[in-house]
Parts: sequence; structure tokens; C-alpha cells
Amino acid sequence: MIEVESDAAPGCRGMRRKPKPVVVPMRPVPQGYTGDRARCPACGDDGAGVVGVIALRLVFRCGACGVKFHRATATLADLAAR
Ligand SMILES: [Zn+2]
Repeated sequence: MIEVESDAAPGCRGMRRKPKPVVVPMRPVPQGYTGDRARCPACGDDGAGVVGVIALRLVFRCGACGVKFHRATATLADLAAR
């Protein structure tokens, strides 16, 4: 049987009273995407640069305010298709 990740609340497994937040390891930026820039959702700065990849999404870090974020839409699969 294959275990499938779900959005179900972790509490229902009853392992711990305070479940640890899930930490998805960040992977290095693939070649070709290191120069990507995005607009920071917090301060609107256009200079946020790629710092890594989480779950096929490029993760950006704003140089102005330090917020980390990813694009809402495009995954690497989307980017590779264009
Ligand atoms: Zn910012």
C-alpha cells in the first residue's frame, strides 16, 4: 500500500500534543533559474532573488525586507514548459 500525503490535521494521529511544523527541506536553485527575480509580496520590491527550491517552487528572498516567499502559480514544471 502506498502512503499518500494529505492535508489532514496531524492531530488526529495522536502522536504528540504539539505537532512540530512540517519542515520541507530547501533544495539548491537549479541552473538557469539563479537569475530569476520576483516582486516581494510584503514590500513590493522587485529585486527579490532566488534562494532555493521547495516542492518544485522557486523560493525568493527579498533583499529589502528579508521576507521569503514563493510564486503563487509557477512551479518548475510550469517554468520548464514555457
Ligand atoms: Zn520585501
